[in-house]
Amino acid sequence: MKIKSIECLKLVRAFPAPSTPPRHPLPMVGGKPGRTRNNPHPIHRYPDILTGAFVPNPGEAFFTRTMFVRVTAEDGSWGIGSSHWGEYTKAFIEQHIAPLLIGRDCMAIEHLNDLMWRSFQRLGHTGLVSMAQAPVDIALWDLKGKLLGVPVYTLLGGPSRPELDTYVTTSDIDWAMELGFTRFKIGNFIQLTDGTAGINRLEDYVAQTREKVGPDADLMVNVVMGYNVEFAIRVAERLRPYNLAWLEEPLMPWDHEGHAQLKHAVPTVPLATGETHRGRHAFAELIGRRAVDIVQPDISWTGGLSETLKIYALAEAAGLQTLVHVGGGRPEGQHFSLTMPECTLAEYNLRSPAGVPLEEVSRVPGLAMPVNGKIRVSDAPGLGTDYHPDDFVPFD
Ligand SMILES: [Mg+2]
Repeated sequence: MKIKSIECLKLVRAFPAPSTPPRHPLPMVGGKPGRTRNNPHPIHRYPDILTGAFVPNPGEAFFTRTMFVRVTAEDGSWGIGSSHWGEYTKAFIEQHIAPLLIGRDCMAIEHLNDLMWRSFQRLGHTGLVSMAQAPVDIALWDLKGKLLGVPVYTLLGGPSRPELDTYVTTSDIDWAMELGFTRFKIGNFIQLTDGTAGINRLEDYVAQTREKVGPDADLMVNVVMGYNVEFAIRVAERLRPYNLAWLEEPLMPWDHEGHAQLKHAVPTVPLATGETHRGRHAFAELIGRRAVDIVQPDISWTGGLSETLKIYALAEAAGLQTLVHVGGGRPEGQHFSLTMPECTLAEYNLRSPAGVPLEEVSRVPGLAMPVNGKIRVSDAPGLGTDYHPDDFVPFD
């Protein structure tokens, strides 16, 4: 079956507004409403670049818009994938990837990925190129599952578990506990320039959260690249008494030596990273140097399901878990996490305000929601999403 078309699309489906009013606003964290997106990124070193909503860091504004890619076969069957920063990747998909793949066998996903990867070599084969490749690859898996009438997790090797265990990323611990979650990841609101006073404030927040969730719950802190090695060691040392399951992405992704140094300096605080690493070679270096305890590729940023399978194999061979970024909140993440033995947890990013059922804020029709911290993945063909052709118009 040949590929007939590859299109960049935006979702225009009208989702009903939540009918349940929020019970209370987001709790304040570090002096701001506790959105997990308030984590300082490296650019927030500069005080004129404010955190929260990523504005006025202009390039980040595009992150909030999801771009969908539809791959259609010659019989009219189609699959859907998605990624972010579509304003940057659209031209690359339309002018580079589509002419390369149209007319080829849509079932030969490994070959199609190798074609893309080889053709990207002069363009960097990471970064935005990985983000362009990913939704095309994800759409190919969705299409193949639909053509064969099986869920993508069957194509990937079949389920390793009946349902997904999740952890929740949130600042609203009370609401998350009420929903039945038992593993919690909270944000970080400090960076290097906040110094000792910042570490004191972060420790207070982690201590209060540990008190709330109890001694047996998994608790994690998500930094998002805001530290350097020296500051990360100081923070990790300070947080040791709170028995973190991991400290996430404290350093910039290129600093593999720094990751190894941090892991060696504070071995009792597991180190997780990977959502900003792109492609097999970045992970090969990270894993090969034993610079990390848990790898966290983002399937829709790092090249897609096919590339994440290669990353997973590297990590599995090194005895490491692969807990994909937002794995519980995206269809490709759910199918991947259900399949792979060393994907023991799926992240669920809690977007619903307190009291509002998760289904009322979901924007992925057909995607299974967590119930008491567990997700039963759809067994519908492909990725199990329930999109209609009229849900999409050309991306602009
Ligand atoms: Mg993260």
